[in-house]
Amino acid sequence: MRVRFAPSPTGYLHIGGLRTALYNWLLARKSGGVFILRIEDTDRSRFVGDAEQDIVDSLQWAGLDVDEGPQTGSYRQSERTDLYDAALTRLLDAGRAYVAFDTPAEIEEMRVRLATDANPNPRYDWSTRSHMKNSLTLSANEVAARISGGEPYVIRLRVEPGSDVVFTDLVRGEVSFRTDEVDDQILRKSDGLPTYHLANVVDDHDMQISHVVRGEEWLSSTPKHVLLYDAFGWDVPHMAHLPLILSPTGGKLSKRNAERQGIPVFVKEYRAAGYEPEALLNYLALLGWHPPGEQEIFSLQGLTDAFSLDRVGQSGVQFDKDKLAWFNGQHLRGMTPEAIAGGQMEALRAAYGDVSQDRAVEAATLMHERMAFASDLVAFDYLFRAPETWDEAAVKKRWKDDSPGLVTAYREALAALPDWTAESLESCLRSTAEQHGAGAGRLIHPVRLAVSGVSHGPGLFDLLVYLGRDATCERLQTAVRALA
Ligand code: GLU
Repeated sequence: MRVRFAPSPTGYLHIGGLRTALYNWLLARKSGGVFILRIEDTDRSRFVGDAEQDIVDSLQWAGLDVDEGPQTGSYRQSERTDLYDAALTRLLDAGRAYVAFDTPAEIEEMRVRLATDANPNPRYDWSTRSHMKNSLTLSANEVAARISGGEPYVIRLRVEPGSDVVFTDLVRGEVSFRTDEVDDQILRKSDGLPTYHLANVVDDHDMQISHVVRGEEWLSSTPKHVLLYDAFGWDVPHMAHLPLILSPTGGKLSKRNAERQGIPVFVKEYRAAGYEPEALLNYLALLGWHPPGEQEIFSLQGLTDAFSLDRVGQSGVQFDKDKLAWFNGQHLRGMTPEAIAGGQMEALRAAYGDVSQDRAVEAATLMHERMAFASDLVAFDYLFRAPETWDEAAVKKRWKDDSPGLVTAYREALAALPDWTAESLESCLRSTAEQHGAGAGRLIHPVRLAVSGVSHGPGLFDLLVYLGRDATCERLQTAVRALA
């Protein structure tokens, strides 16, 4: 199996592109095949300079390693124009393509001139080409003269009417179309560069692609590609078109409607927001593919083992940001505290100065169940430094007249506590409260507030164990003074 991900560098890699890359990569890895990255950069008007780098970086971040690509050889279409020129010459020589000189204005004018009731929107095709300025209507001498005179021209595929073309899409089944309905597509633009259709087909053939797996938006191009394969006398690769990713409010998840709903579309945005790459891939895998059993949470290896094209559905699937966040949490739970802390050391040190690896692992262990993102670890500042402010609403609600006395009594009892475990800290708290004729809650809430500055967090006694005796007692004392 040789598969390719063939993005156009017209923008940063978006999540739909990452899903296409993922499906291709899974097929390659599952079958021991080859995953190719091809940069389809023939559209110079939409070219974005740093898009290719973003695509490469994003795939690498996601863990989708590339076997063949711009890093290993000529896999940018702009570097392969000789191949397309040779292919065009072949088609021209075989009479399967022709040169056309019509300007955009002339084509516009034709649409009006040749419109009939039966064909209100004529295209440049078998029914109109004989009325146009091309190498089928002009003499060979005139064609040669116009070209050598520098007149701009395109090369079109000559599509003859009257036959049915059928191909089997691995997701959609048999797809058939009449050649009458296919226009004489442009293969080479007037800037000399090939169009997407030509370069795509020539490359898929040249790179010996066995399976073309791409988004549904390319399904309508496939008839043109099949006709091109036929014109060259090449075998058509297996085709699979993946269902559209839909916006939560319906319709294709375009950049614009995603933005309106606060859904990031670029992979780099998910990366910056702290998503685990495996969680994002797991979620994207399920946008279109139905796993064989009940299991929903997959590692990348698990996906590789379970994935198959025959469980990819046809109908569009809605993107759900909350579900993705849930997947992220699930993946975090499956990670070790060492792995979570390891990825945050740089951020922790930037925020809090000297934080040891061991300390970060202890913090990650304490907060493991409470984190939505690994980067949350950095946001729990009270784990790494004493609070200097205490949440006002929490103080109002939790810091009562008897709090200073109770907290001070607890602090004094803690100072003398023989061992520092969650159990001993808890029984000490309960007995202190009892001695003062108060319920345990009268002490639990103020103590939490005092040591953390906020009213929620991990189990209080686990937190105190983590902080240790000195820090706990110090923080209790500081809070009593500060909140007086
Ligand atoms: N260059 C096209 C894109 O940007 C490739 C489509 C295909 O895979 O054939 O998605």
